[in-house]
Amino acid sequence: MKTVTLTIDNGPDPDATPRVLDILAARNIPSAFFVLGKNAADPARRPLLERTLAEGHWIGNHTWSHDGPLGPMTDAAAIAEIERTQDALGEFADPRRMFRPVGGSGALGPHLLNPAARDFLASGGYTCVLWNSVPRDFSDPDGWVARGLEHVETLDHTLMVLHDVPGGCVDKLDGFLGQLQDRGVTFVQDIPDDAIIIDRGDVRDTASAYVMEG
Ligand SMILES: [Zn+2]
Repeated sequence: MKTVTLTIDNGPDPDATPRVLDILAARNIPSAFFVLGKNAADPARRPLLERTLAEGHWIGNHTWSHDGPLGPMTDAAAIAEIERTQDALGEFADPRRMFRPVGGSGALGPHLLNPAARDFLASGGYTCVLWNSVPRDFSDPDGWVARGLEHVETLDHTLMVLHDVPGGCVDKLDGFLGQLQDRGVTFVQDIPDDAIIIDRGDVRDTASAYVMEG
């Protein structure tokens, strides 16, 4: 039995997000949306956050600017990327204060956080969520589907990152999800435990692999 948790990053976007929400609603797939602070702060996009929440999805923090991974940033810049976004999310933010770092085309490694960002997440009671599947919808709007199917075949529980941005997953999303449902894949909203490196402020041993020291 294969399990998939779907997550949708980098929105909300006035065109892509409503279409993604329509598809997820029709297929009854609850998801988590990791949004950018600069988007969430845009008054024109706030109704998209309302709709996302009203339809049963979770909303997490995915940095303010998405300018790059936090590891190489100054302490102040890294903290501001997290804090400004959480402020912009306000009541829309999931109570676990979920934060997903920027990977840079999906790469995992010590570039994700610096010690200041880690400590800020810990003291603020955040939950830091990684991933194990980035099919790269943003750079390959057709080919990502085959890659996504392969990831689901390979993994027991896939925590997939797709994107509600122009040129992202939306054109192929319904067909992709249909193929997975035809194959008997189970969709769950829960984040797999091994993708969580900070759990409501509790820094796990696994976190050290994702923090750039010195
Ligand atoms: Zn991202």
